[in-house]
Parts: sequence; C-alpha cells; structure tokens
Amino acid sequence: AKMAGRSTLRFFNPGMQKAVDEHVAFEADLRSALAQQEFSLHYQPQLNARGQILGVEALLRWTQPRRGMVSPAEFIPAAEETGLILPLGRWVLHTACTRLAAWQKQPDLAPLTMAVNVSPRQFRDAGFVADVLRVLAVTGAPAAQLKLELTESLLVEDMAKTIATMEALRAHGVSFSLDDFGTGYSSLTYLKRMPLGQLKIDQGFVHDLLSDPNDAAIVRTIVALADSLGLEVIAEGVETEEQRHWLAQAGCQAYQGYLFSKPLPAQEVEQLMQSHISA
Ligand code: C2E
Ligand code: CA
Ligand code: CA
Ligand code: CA
Repeated sequence: AKMAGRSTLRFFNPGMQKAVDEHVAFEADLRSALAQQEFSLHYQPQLNARGQILGVEALLRWTQPRRGMVSPAEFIPAAEETGLILPLGRWVLHTACTRLAAWQKQPDLAPLTMAVNVSPRQFRDAGFVADVLRVLAVTGAPAAQLKLELTESLLVEDMAKTIATMEALRAHGVSFSLDDFGTGYSSLTYLKRMPLGQLKIDQGFVHDLLSDPNDAAIVRTIVALADSLGLEVIAEGVETEEQRHWLAQAGCQAYQGYLFSKPLPAQEVEQLMQSHISA
C-alpha cells in the first residue's frame, strides 16, 4: 500500500494498474502522433459586426489512422498531465505562425489575426516566452497579429508571474484574449491588472441567450465590463442569426461560430476568406 496525505491508506488495485497502463499507452500514442504528423490545425473565422473577417482561431485536430478525428477536448487534458502539451503546444504555435506568415504575404488577404490556444502548463513553462519569440523569428509571423488565448485559471494562481510573462510578450506586440470568460473565478481586481486585449464570452452563455434571462444578464455584464476596462469583446459559439443580432444590440463587436463557419482546414478557410473579401 502507498501512503497518501493525511494518513489515508490507499491500496493499489487492478483498476489503478489499468489507469497507469492507459496513461503509458496514451503517452506513447501522442508521441508517435507527433512524429507521424497525425496532428493538424483547423481555422475558424472571427468576424466583426459588419461581417468582415478579422482573423481566425487555430484549433487542434488529431486524425488517428484507426479512430479517425479525435476531439482536442479528449486529449488536451491528458497532454497537460503528461507534459506532452509542451512539444505539442510548440508544434501548434509553429504551425499557426507559419500559416500566419504565409497569409500575410498574400495581397488578396487583409491582415489577419491568428488566435492560438495556450494551456496553463504551457504558459507557466519557464521557456514559454523564449519559445514564442523564437517561433515568431523563425516563421517571420508579425507579433502584432498573434493573439494568445488564455484561461482564467492563470489569473487565480501566481498572478505576478502571469503578468510578467504577459508583459514580456506584449513588449513584442503579442496580444491576449481571456477564453471561456465567465466560467472561472477571476476577480475584477485581477482582470484590471492583466495586460489583456480581449474577453471571449463563453459559448455556454451564448447558447441560451434567448431563452435564459440569467445568461442574457451575464452577457450584458461582460460586455459592459469589457467596455469599462477598455477591452475588446468577442462571442464564441454563435450559431443563429438571432443570437448574432442580440449580441450586436448588446454592444458585442466580434463573433465566432457555426453561423459563419465551422473550423476549416487551411486551404478551405483561405478560399472562404478570398470569396468573402471579393463578395
Ligand atoms: P475553445 O478554445 O473554447 O474552442 C471553441 C470550441 O468550440 C472548439 O471546439 C470549436 O470547434 C467549437 N465551436 C466553434 N463554433 C461553435 C459553435 O457555433 N457551436 C458549438 N457548439 N461549438 C463551436 P474544439 O475544436 O473541439 O476544441 C475544444 C477545446 O480544445 C478548445 O475549446 C480548447 O480549449 C482546446 N483546444 C483546441 N485546440 C487547442 C490547442 O491548440 N491548444 C490547446 N492548449 N487547447 C486547444
Ligand atoms: Ca479558444
Ligand atoms: Ca472558448
Ligand atoms: Ca468553452
């Protein structure tokens, strides 16, 4: 038996062995997936109130030979636990910035913002700032068009270090959006101290906007909060014209969701952007 905290005895049982085996198997799968190039990025457009595409969010996809496409919701948590999020996160950043640099060179595309999700473990890694700066230098992507999406848990723990990391990147032009906003525990004092550029209203609130007065009230509050802090606000998970209209009336300036486009492979989103601009 293994001693766990507070004198609780925990016995190692077959179920735990199974969990350990699965953990090891997952780690091996993920490592080989990186080597075998089973990962790809899809890109989902972000639009302003006039319907212009402002940029895209890069979303990770894992296509397994046997299982097909696996949702990041299934493997990101395990990648965080095993630490594999570090090489995986570097791959995401490198791939997204390579794409951003390529789009930047195309005269038929307006300057776009590339939003990249960063997990807490990745953000807290001692090498994170250097990694981002190196990727920007290597790919030639413009730092001012890179937006990192962070989650609220970073605001709760080790605030001083979080701010220092953000400031170091912001000095180079990188900006930040707070993802899934409203679902976490960030206090307003913290929010004010963070060098943020944008709040991203969680899709859970957007989903029930028109049927749940509480969600509607929360969204109004977030928009007002963003406004008073001088931050941009974007709504994610916008699926209907009614939701978009409601959000526009409430003062929301940017939108993302299936109403406009699902996340698409690079070539498809590029075509969409080109037809969108010439339309
Ligand atoms: P997220 O950052 O909140 O991303 C939004 C999720 O909502 C995406 O799911 C997107 O495909 C989905 N979505 C977009 N529009 C709509 C809509 O209109 N309706 C609905 N119902 N859903 C919509 P996805 O791609 O499965 O990603 C799930 C989560 O995995 C992301 O949530 C993010 O937390 C994480 N993730 C994805 N890519 C990365 C990555 O490269 N790095 C890290 N660390 N996390 C990632
Ligand atoms: Ca996100
Ligand atoms: Ca989100
Ligand atoms: Ca969410």
